[in-house]
Amino acid sequence: MKLCSACLLGIACRYDGKIKAHPTLLELAKREILIPVCPEQLGGQSTPRPDAEISGGDGLKVLEGKARVLEPDGNDVTSNFIFGAEETLQIARLYGINEAILKQRSPSCGSGKIYDGSFGRKIIPGDGVTAALLKKNGIKVISEEEL
Ligand code: SF4
Repeated sequence: MKLCSACLLGIACRYDGKIKAHPTLLELAKREILIPVCPEQLGGQSTPRPDAEISGGDGLKVLEGKARVLEPDGNDVTSNFIFGAEETLQIARLYGINEAILKQRSPSCGSGKIYDGSFGRKIIPGDGVTAALLKKNGIKVISEEEL
């Protein structure tokens, strides 16, 4: 059993409200239990919602209080992202899950690659807030690109 970014399984939870299932994940879901989670919705955000990026670092820095998650107009959604990450960790603990497949480059779910906070689609190394919290708690995180 693994956690999986809900958007990869075709749930319409993306910021833009679009459905973008990943074919490999849909196949995998036929063979093993994938628990769909959307940390941004779990953090109380609506769908659709404005895009958001981490400003001043990565997800780990956000958890340390040294970086923020901002929308393009400067609205600060850091607390939503942290709450959503904590709720996701709680779901993992509920089922004893120790592995997650999460959407690459998302400010919540990205693992190893995220956008740099400029909203210019520039990628930097780092984890999203949820990926960072899961890793910090011993849960292995891979992206759909690593399958
Ligand atoms: Fe939700 Fe993560 Fe998918 Fe974003 S990438 S829509 S936070 S599941």
